Amino acid sequence: MTDFDWQDYSIETQAIRAGHKRTEEGEHSMPIFMTSSYVFDSAEDAALRFTGKREGHIYSRFTNPTVNAFQDRLALMEQGERCLAFASGMAAIMAVGMGLLKSGDHVVCSRSVFGNTILTFQNYFAKFGVETSFVELSNLQAWDDAIQPNTRFLFVETPSNPLMELIDIKALADIAHKKDTLLVVDNVFCTPIMQKPLLLGADIIVHSATKYIDGQGRCVGGAVIASDEIIEQYIYPYLRTGGATMSAFNAWIFLSGLETLAVRMKAHCDNAFELARWLDEQPAVDKVHYPGLESHPQHQLAKQQQSHFGAVVSFELKGGKEGAWKLIDSTKMLSITANLGDVKSTITHPATTTHGRLAPEVRLEAGIKDSLVRISVGLESVEDIKRDLLRGLVA
Ligand SMILES: *Cc1c(COP(=O)(O)O)cnc(C)c1O
Repeated sequence: MTDFDWQDYSIETQAIRAGHKRTEEGEHSMPIFMTSSYVFDSAEDAALRFTGKREGHIYSRFTNPTVNAFQDRLALMEQGERCLAFASGMAAIMAVGMGLLKSGDHVVCSRSVFGNTILTFQNYFAKFGVETSFVELSNLQAWDDAIQPNTRFLFVETPSNPLMELIDIKALADIAHKKDTLLVVDNVFCTPIMQKPLLLGADIIVHSATKYIDGQGRCVGGAVIASDEIIEQYIYPYLRTGGATMSAFNAWIFLSGLETLAVRMKAHCDNAFELARWLDEQPAVDKVHYPGLESHPQHQLAKQQQSHFGAVVSFELKGGKEGAWKLIDSTKMLSITANLGDVKSTITHPATTTHGRLAPEVRLEAGIKDSLVRISVGLESVEDIKRDLLRGLVA
């Protein structure tokens, strides 16, 4: 019923209010529209909707009111023109590739992206004649040098997982545009609360809603945000045909996730900053990787580019792999799992889990040492998180 223009409101308000078009029932909370198809007023109405000459739902593979509400809300929060939701973060990344790439094209991708993103380019798009060059995340010159006349887009994730390295998004967007190519940013780690890649010049954002947007580890989902033109021309036709759709139920969970995203991100980051400073003082810890610390090589960039420093902290132990495993096994509260972005803190050993499939020399080149431990800092009391770690750090 009421469709309000939320453009001029702040992100905290958009996250709570935007997207929900109240029905004539007057419901206060967004309903879950569990329907696969929609009824037309007449044969003519059906024909007009199918040809796109009249707006209206046809089939929930490509539009559904609950999913639309999630898309409209997230698009506003990222200050993008349009968002499309997908079944997972990987489905969103796959959609960008399937929509934009053709045989003979080339992609430049950061070496420090999510493992399955690397496999998507290396194992799948490569099968169809798309070549990908992998470059060092923070080396702008390497990105510039790797661009070819057939480069369709650059793909980057900042800050990176698990070392929390950054790249200057604006500088990278300038490099991309000078050479007539596009920049895709995976904004999972920051969410729109902390970083707005489109405002910095990026062309496309991809999200895994599974992480902070859900925030409580319940559903898998993803999204692509870009201009109307990019979505209409490249992404929507793929979603409609490819069918990696977000379910209405999951969209409903993610909508309520967005409502608390701003307060959660701030609390996550406050906990992480405190934990990083504390870890930095522990004698058993060799090095802490966290952009909030002045020792971080890109501390200044982090201050400029992000509103907070992030909720993932990784650190190297003096005791090598044995020390890392001992610390992990000595915790009682932290969950030993590779997932992140949950209210529950998680602890993991990247070298033998998320990065375990990489050859040892490739892994070391990427800076993933055997002594490295990663914590996705949750919303428990930070004092309890410290207490849980202290046992292993003094042992
Ligand atoms: C988890 C993750 C993905 C993939 O998302 P799924 O929802 O698990 O498919 C992509 N990028 C980053 C940075 C992630 O953390």
